[in-house]
Amino acid sequence: MTYWDRYLQPTTVDEALRVLAQAPGESCVIAGGTDLLLDLQQGRQAPVHALVDVTGIPELREIREEDGAVFVGAAATHSRIVEHPLLIRHAPCLVEACSLIGGPQVRNVATLGGNVSHGLPAADGTIALLALGAQAVVAEAGGRRTVPLESLFIAPGRTTLSGRTAILVGLRFPERGAHEGSAFHRTMRPQGVAIAILNMALWLRLDETGTIDEARLAAGPGGPTPRRSRRAEAQLCGQAANGVVIEGVLEALAEDVQLRTSAHRATAEYRYHLLGVLLRRIVPRALASVAGALPAIDEEPGESVEVG
Ligand SMILES: Cc1cc2nc3c(=O)[nH]c(=O)nc-3n(C[C@H](O)[C@H](O)[C@H](O)COP(=O)(O)OP(=O)(O)OC[C@H]3O[C@@H](n4cnc5c(N)ncnc54)[C@H](O)[C@@H]3O)c2cc1C
Repeated sequence: MTYWDRYLQPTTVDEALRVLAQAPGESCVIAGGTDLLLDLQQGRQAPVHALVDVTGIPELREIREEDGAVFVGAAATHSRIVEHPLLIRHAPCLVEACSLIGGPQVRNVATLGGNVSHGLPAADGTIALLALGAQAVVAEAGGRRTVPLESLFIAPGRTTLSGRTAILVGLRFPERGAHEGSAFHRTMRPQGVAIAILNMALWLRLDETGTIDEARLAAGPGGPTPRRSRRAEAQLCGQAANGVVIEGVLEALAEDVQLRTSAHRATAEYRYHLLGVLLRRIVPRALASVAGALPAIDEEPGESVEVG
């Protein structure tokens, strides 16, 4: 079985858009291929005429500061993100999330843009980016647009980029200000499954009195698409950092998410239990990040919960 006829390696975004549009049959963007090649092999993606490799486009590999924001090119690998000083400083939750993805071989080729574009509700990089308030920079034949990250997602594994002649150029989020910090936490099956049982990312800002004045919280898989919990964020705001009461936040978070039983990962019941476990751990870690001292991550292996 041939999964593709031609493998194209453009060096600019315009050239990539042109070859995507001109291919005589269906064509598809590929970056690290760690999701796409499995999708082709296992039949979730039909064979295509052309694979268009975007990793040779210099702009898509850039990580830079721009006008009070940080830009991470879609083809930046998780390994580069984890070691990049700009991201260590401005995006602790993203660095933590990317450091946990796969093993070193996967992280060396897999990209942040691929993690986002694959559109899974529990993709670790995506969940961290939601907490950072990220926007997506998308290029299409008509030009470029910058849209809120959440608006890209339509259904599990489907984004507004799917089946279109569109390229995710990169992700953009505000630089970290004073009294701001973030953390990521997840519970994972010990082996064999690439996506978390449950993950969570939290970004916080305190005012000068030590009160939480803004929060962004995302948990995945929290529904059919990656999303934030606005109700839980509202419950965090106004609380004193030295005495955060978790119960109301947890109730609001549980109302916002739709946790389901999945065949290879966990029951819905176990996931609701984990919601409280992760929340109780992530709040002090995010507050420690605000104080500039994020403690080392301690990933929880999930208990084996066999279902289906
Ligand atoms: C062993 C293993 C372990 C893994 N562990 C984890 C894990 O712990 N956490 C996790 O979240 N994921 C995990 N993954 C999934 C995967 O590695 C990540 O989602 C990765 O970031 C995907 O990036 P990629 O560059 O390989 O994407 P690809 O496979 O190249 O592409 C994925 C999808 O995105 C599209 N795409 C890619 N780049 C662009 C772009 N710039 N513009 C438009 N569309 C684009 C492709 O067309 C395709 O549909 C794992 C995978 C494996 C094989």
